[in-house]
Order: sequence, then structure tokens, then C-alpha cells
Amino acid sequence: MPGFEVLGEEERKEVLDVLSRKVLFRYEFDKERQGIYKVAEFEKAFADYCGAGWALAVSSGTAALRVALAALGIGPGDEVITQGFTFVATWEAILDIGAVPVFAEIDDTFCLDPGDVARRITPRTRAIVPVHMCGGQARIEEIIAEACRFDLPVIEDTAQSCGGRIRGKHVGTYGRMGTFSFDSVKTMTTGEGGMVLFQDEEAYIRASEYHDHGHDHDPAVGRGLEKRNFIGFNFRMMELQGALGLAQLRKLDRAILAPQRENKRRIQVALSEIPQVQLRSSPDPDGDIGSFLMFSLPTAGQARSFAQVMKEAGCPPVYWYDNTWHYYGHWEHLLGGKTPFRSGYPFRTPEGATRCTYDPDALPRTAERLSRCLTIPIQIRMDDQIPKIIAAIEKAARVL
Ligand SMILES: *Cc1c(COP(=O)(O)O)cnc(C)c1O
Repeated sequence: MPGFEVLGEEERKEVLDVLSRKVLFRYEFDKERQGIYKVAEFEKAFADYCGAGWALAVSSGTAALRVALAALGIGPGDEVITQGFTFVATWEAILDIGAVPVFAEIDDTFCLDPGDVARRITPRTRAIVPVHMCGGQARIEEIIAEACRFDLPVIEDTAQSCGGRIRGKHVGTYGRMGTFSFDSVKTMTTGEGGMVLFQDEEAYIRASEYHDHGHDHDPAVGRGLEKRNFIGFNFRMMELQGALGLAQLRKLDRAILAPQRENKRRIQVALSEIPQVQLRSSPDPDGDIGSFLMFSLPTAGQARSFAQVMKEAGCPPVYWYDNTWHYYGHWEHLLGGKTPFRSGYPFRTPEGATRCTYDPDALPRTAERLSRCLTIPIQIRMDDQIPKIIAAIEKAARVL
């Protein structure tokens, strides 16, 4: 699953390159850095790898979402549609910018159901944020077709599917923007970090200004003399992260995705022999990055028994239905409107009126799908574990 498994000499060399010039910052110090611009180089390499027009590196995947929303002018008074199976960061970013997240169901890809988008749209809807979950791909072309009917932009949260494709085209390049995370457990890592991909230069420029306190980045003037078009914030990536990103990106296809996919394939063969098992659907199975193997059983009871046997055999699968960080039904802080702010914002207005409330039973189809689903996390190096996992699967199949 994570790029940290293959951190090595290449990363060390890139980082030392930065330390030798003593310039840790992406902007300024043009003389001292002697031509080394790791963050800018990483942006260019990542955009080229994915086939996107523009890329902006930021401090995290959550920041990437936050910056993407700001670049579209989305904020208070607006609603953004996303899915009820994702990491909390997706909706934290929407709430943090002042907008209200509206949750839709997932389909058999375990990503946003394009068929459930239309009924969530209100006059306040301003964007749709599908999440490519667990190394897979959403039915992004259908989601974009729906969004187009309502003239809404799509921001793809691609934090978990970096390097994923659909018939050769990278996920994260279908929508108006795509966001990525390079945190500690993601497919490639820079420690902390993120990226936004853009289809148009206008959004890129707005995002670039917003993520750096509003600096207009006019190359003709010094940094202290740059002008501002609007207020901003600090979501900058630093040079050490850019250096790590360059080394990890060079390894992505060959040393991360290829072994992951092969490991997944080997375990999947064993699962495919069990008639009750249904593998996750995909718009293009060959473009899945192989970081998770998701499968469903006919009933929740069977999923729990299967998981129990695997756990006893020392190979516990992930049961997202019980997970408190990824499934709507267990986001008790969201459902209960828990906030550090005295006013109750963002769940209440400063005047005390309700802004948004969330019903735990609002997504019955998501609940039903997750209750029957088990997930085996795939590592880059797992040769020792694979026979154990396959044996556990064969044992579990006998309790069905
Ligand atoms: C990890 C993750 C993020 C946030 O990334 P950070 O870099 O940890 O801020 C956003 N969305 C999804 C789906 C994620 O899995």
C-alpha cells in the first residue's frame, strides 16, 4: 500500500541535494539555490506523468481539497456533494471553507454513485467531489456527464488512487481539478504533502495565489513587492517534500504499482474460486492501482464470520462498516455537530440557527454495501504473507 516501504537511496540523494544548498523553501533565494527548485520540478513531473496541464503542490491532501474549492470561489452559502464512504478529510475541507457537505450513496465501485447525484442537487449546489476509494476508480465519466447536465464542476479526490487510470487516462485528470495526498500511508509519500491538478490555467493561477497568502507571483518583481488579488492562506509545500516526491514518483509505476498489482492478483485468484464472493466493480480493472482488494459476501453475517476466521488465522481484513474514520454512519462528531467553536459553527450560524444536520440513517445503500464488504490491504512487499492470507481465505470459505 504505502510508498514508505520503498524509501531508499534515491530519496536520500534528492533530500541531500536540497540540504547541500540550504534552501528549504520553494520561493525566493534564487541565487543560493543554484538552480534547484524541487517543488517546481515535482509539480512539472507529476503533471507530465498524469497528463495534466498544470499542477500545484501543497502541504497535504486536505489542503489540496481546500485550495481546489477556493480556486472555484466555493465557500459560505454553497453546498458540495460528496460520498458517505471516504476519509473524513474530504468533508472536513468542505466544512472548513464554509460550505456544507451533502452526502450521496456509493455504487458497486464503492465510489460515488452517478445515479444518486441528481436527487442531491439543490439551488445551492456548487461542485461535486467524487472520491476514488481504495486504489479503485469511480464511474467518473458518468459522474461528469451528470455534473454537466447541471453545469457543475467536478473535483476528483484522488488521494487514495494516485497512478490509477481508466483506459490509459489518469484519474484526477477527468474533472476540472484532481487532488492527491502524499501522507504517511498513501501510495507515494512525501511525509506530508498533496497536489492539485488542473485542466485550465485560470483555476491554477487562483489556486497558486490562494495557497501562498495571495502572492500574485509576478516574476518581474521581488517577493516582498508582489501584489495581491485577494486574501489567501499558507498551504505551501517545502523543498524537502518536493525532493522526496521526485524520487517516489520515479518509482511509482515500476517499484510500487507493479508489485502491488501482482500481489493483489495472486490473492484475488483464491477469492475468485469462492462462488459467494463478489469482487468490487471497476470501470477498468487494469487501471486499479492494486492497493486494496475489496470483495463482498451475500450477507453482513457471512462477512462478519468470514472476517472472524481470517482474523483468527492472523490475517484480519478491514471491515469498513465498523471503521470510524471512513464511514458516514460512525462519524459521530459530524452527526452530533461537535465543533471546537463557541458559536457551534459550522453546524450553527453565529446567531444560533441550524446550518446543517446529519441523519445517521441517511445512506441506507452505502450502509448495506459496506456491511457485506471485506477489504484486504495490499503491500508492496508481502511475499511471506500471501500464502498465509490465501490459506485464511480457503479456511474462511468453509464457514459460508
Ligand atoms: C488521505 C486522504 C485525504 C487527506 O490527505 P492528507 O494528506 O492526510 O491531508 C483526503 N481524502 C482521502 C480520500 C484520503 O484518503
